Amino acid sequence: MFKKILIANRGEIALRIQRACKEMGIKAVVVYSEADREAKYVKLADEAVCIGPAASSLSYLNMPAIISTAEVTDAEAIHPGYGFLSENANFAERVEMSGFTFIGPTPESIRLMGDKVSAKQAMIKSGVPCVPGSEGALPEDPKEIIKIARSIGYPVIIKAAGGGGGRGMRVVHTEAALIHAVQTTRAEAGAAFGNPQVYMEKFLERPRHIEIQVMADQHKNAVWLGERDCSMQRRHQKIIEEAPAPGIPRRVIERIGDRCAAACKKIGYRGAGTFEFLFEDGEFYFIEMNTRVQVEHPVTEMVTGIDIVQMQIRVAAGEKLPFAQRNIEMRGHAIECRINAEDPYKFTPSPGRISLWHPPGGPGVRVDSHIYTNYFVPPNYDSMVGKIICHGDTRDQALARMRTALSETVVEGIQTNIPLHRELMADAKFIEGGTSIHYLEGWLGQHTR
Ligand code: ADP
Repeated sequence: MFKKILIANRGEIALRIQRACKEMGIKAVVVYSEADREAKYVKLADEAVCIGPAASSLSYLNMPAIISTAEVTDAEAIHPGYGFLSENANFAERVEMSGFTFIGPTPESIRLMGDKVSAKQAMIKSGVPCVPGSEGALPEDPKEIIKIARSIGYPVIIKAAGGGGGRGMRVVHTEAALIHAVQTTRAEAGAAFGNPQVYMEKFLERPRHIEIQVMADQHKNAVWLGERDCSMQRRHQKIIEEAPAPGIPRRVIERIGDRCAAACKKIGYRGAGTFEFLFEDGEFYFIEMNTRVQVEHPVTEMVTGIDIVQMQIRVAAGEKLPFAQRNIEMRGHAIECRINAEDPYKFTPSPGRISLWHPPGGPGVRVDSHIYTNYFVPPNYDSMVGKIICHGDTRDQALARMRTALSETVVEGIQTNIPLHRELMADAKFIEGGTSIHYLEGWLGQHTR
């Protein structure tokens, strides 16, 4: 096992990874930007090295600075967390070429899944069902593009092969709008992702977002750790996640889960990963794979009892998975609310000094957050400042615990989306379960203040 790991991230996930390291008796080195100097996880770390100014491009995305820090601190492995460099195949390659272990899949797997066109092709080959669409990237010839759209049927969605974070997508309802939409998405994708390739999919009108957590070792073992329902989204950003997905029969989930585990074996995947699907009318349609730990991994940890971050470290160190598929059981229900520093209804960021932080507690309540009273939320990064995760024997109990937890939570000095979460936890449709990915935006439209 490693003696020392460098954590190339910030915020709650830097703390989460550090906790896993400590529990395993591994020393944790954190890198931080000048804006994160006061962060508690920086003070709690065994070693902390400032690698640059606030701008991510000069700090958390600064590959040479991160790799040299691993060198000078004698770290053996680098955990990239989520976001930043976590899905950058070049980074994974440079880490390994410099003699460190990248805690994640191989650069080849990251590259294969990072290009959504090659990812879809790999999934089709592995027997994972995909959204009907173009076979690969769209051709140049407008006539061909029109033909493809006709064969799929409108509405269609044009998506960037290199897209991510909900960007680089455009829905098209009519043939008249098609070519212009393809051209605009190509131009945007070229500028934003350095890859102008786009592809086309059928636009599903009321799907749910269901994802499968997988975990694979370097000895050809792969399992899936249940599913998560992440349909509560705004602008393609998830805000509430839960496991299991309400109302979907277990045998339907098992069928897709087994296919994901088989696909991992087929592509030689290692580490944690997530297969994301749209689910409509009883069918799953693959949209993408994330080759890293997800923000919402705690709901899976709560229902399976498996520490996903520790497992990532173990398989990166070459250990075999300590369980087989038959040993994995889902117990009860877990729900996560992402706490963002923002206006709860206008969604404008609300950085600044937290004058009071009182986290919730009690049975089945977990808080993953790095904030504290007097902590300054820097304006330079993502607005998420933590997650409240509640577990119960049933979904109703998990919901009741979440309501209590949200009512106890106090954050003063900045605005957060806690008032929105409180309302959603009392919403009849959400309580019923099974809402589509468009539900929240519709709800917000009706509840404008
Ligand atoms: P990203 O990598 O940017 O997150 P995804 O391919 O995962 O892109 O898609 C993000 C979100 O966009 C999905 O969760 C869903 O809300 C929507 N979306 C993507 N593809 C489709 C589709 N074919 N039909 C309907 N909605 C889609």
